[in-house]
Amino acid sequence: MTSYRGRFAPSPTGLLHAGSLVAAMASYLDARAHDGVWLVRIEDIDPPRDVPGADKAIIDTLRRLGLNSDEPVLWQHDRYDAYAETLKRLRRDGRVYGCACSRREAAERALALGLPAGVYPGTCRSGTGGRPVRAWRFLTNGVPVTFDDRLAGSFTQNVEKEAGDFVLKRADGLWAYQLAVVADDLYQGVTDIVRGADLIDNTPRQIMLYEALGARPPRYMHLPLVLNSDGQKLSKQQGAVPLNPDDLRGETERAWRHLGFEPIGADSQAAFWKTAARCWKERLEARGVF
Ligand code: GLU
Repeated sequence: MTSYRGRFAPSPTGLLHAGSLVAAMASYLDARAHDGVWLVRIEDIDPPRDVPGADKAIIDTLRRLGLNSDEPVLWQHDRYDAYAETLKRLRRDGRVYGCACSRREAAERALALGLPAGVYPGTCRSGTGGRPVRAWRFLTNGVPVTFDDRLAGSFTQNVEKEAGDFVLKRADGLWAYQLAVVADDLYQGVTDIVRGADLIDNTPRQIMLYEALGARPPRYMHLPLVLNSDGQKLSKQQGAVPLNPDDLRGETERAWRHLGFEPIGADSQAAFWKTAARCWKERLEARGVF
């Protein structure tokens, strides 16, 4: 075993689809290729969006695919105290502020200031003027964040300009993805994140959080997305077709091809994963990004 620790972190907002399988497969193979640990974490922090039973169904499908977490599965709903602790720390260090703006107020002000849609205009940076706090935001700065993605190469974002002061705790009291994912990846000692390219523009925000918490960010690899016939990314919430439980072998082969590999023709599931991990390693070593 090396110190490598990777993870697959599905939100149980629906069943696994072809895109989730690509992320599960690549994160698993990268962990195996490094003789590392692979973890499954259920990101169930958004009860209104979560589908009851989807967590169990996801874990079951992963098991049938031969993808078993090396340590007990972590559920984000068990981690609320830890998120509160993380927020407290950031508040103490002056990295967080309370925001009184409704979504609409923020959007109107952003529009008036000519900011990109979704960027918070910073209204409450110097206080709410006595209005009650609704949400907690991370105080960003304009120093561009750059990281080296193992596939996409160098990626830079000015978080203040392009994302704005992002929410850590929402007005409805729920924890935001950015906070939960960083708190958990730190807690689980994750060294390597392998996930879909749809998340690459979240990564600079997460790196800012690592830095604010005095921690070193992990390495990142963002994978090419699986698109539907309309060219849109598959999403559980938008009802992407779930993996066919009667053809998990075919699903596995399609995910493997999506990652750019030739069919393996292994006679067992275990043999497939073993050979796949070897091919994965060879490919990444040849590109100098192992
Ligand atoms: N829970 C997120 C999702 O299902 C993935 C989070 C991550 O890999 O950082 O899209």
